[in-house]
Amino acid sequence: MRLAIISDIHSNLEALNKSLSIIDSRKVDSILCLGDVVGYGANPNECVEIVKKRCSTVLLGNHDAAAIDLTIAKQFTTYARLSAEWTAGHLLPEHRSFLESLPLTSSKEGVFLVHASPFEPSEWYYIVSILDARQAFAHFSEEICFVGHSHLPGVFGETSESQQVARGERFVVNVGSVGQPRDGNPKLSFGVFDTDRWEYENVRAEYEIKRASQKILDAGLPRALADRLWAGV
Ligand code: ZN
Repeated sequence: MRLAIISDIHSNLEALNKSLSIIDSRKVDSILCLGDVVGYGANPNECVEIVKKRCSTVLLGNHDAAAIDLTIAKQFTTYARLSAEWTAGHLLPEHRSFLESLPLTSSKEGVFLVHASPFEPSEWYYIVSILDARQAFAHFSEEICFVGHSHLPGVFGETSESQQVARGERFVVNVGSVGQPRDGNPKLSFGVFDTDRWEYENVRAEYEIKRASQKILDAGLPRALADRLWAGV
C-alpha cells in the first residue's frame, strides 16, 4: 500500500492543492494528515473542507487545538497567537466541530501517526534531533512513526545514523510541512511511504507562494507570516 502523509498545511490552500495534484499523479492508496490543518494562513475553511474529504485519517495538531480553544494559544508566539485568534473568528461551525472530533494519534497499516511526539502527544514536544527521536521510540510499538510539528523534514533511525528508511530498523520520520516549510527551502514538503517495498520519499515542490502570501496580507494577518513563506522559515 502506498500512503501519502501530509502535515502542517496551515491554511495554505495553494500548497495543499499542489500537494494533492502531485499525490493524485502518483497512484497513492490513502492520504493521511498529521494535523495543523489551520493556523497562520488565510484559507482555514477551504483547507479543512478538502482535508476532510480527501484524507482517510486526520489527526489533531496544536494549531487546530488552539483554534477551537484559544486558551492554548496563550503559550504561542505573538504571530501564532494572532493567527489563532483570526482563525477562531473565521472558522465555520461545521469545521470547528470537525477539528474537535480529531484524535491525537493513530495506527494504520503498521504505521504509527502523531502530530508532535509519541511521548505525551498532547504536550506537543518537538522531535528535531536524533536524541529527541531516540527518546520517542519507547512510546510506540510499530516499526515506523510519522510526525510533523517542527516543519523540518527528517529521517531518524533507532540505532543507526541512516537517513534513509530501510527494513531491519525502526524509524521516526518527519514529513515536513505542506504550508509553511521552515528548513530554509520554501518548497512544500510531504511524504510518500510504500508499506510493501518499505520505501520512503520526501516530496518537495514549488507552489504559488505569491497567491498564498498575498491572501495573508489581504486578510490583515501579520506581514511576517506572508514573508516567511518566501524564505521557507
Ligand atoms: Zn505546524
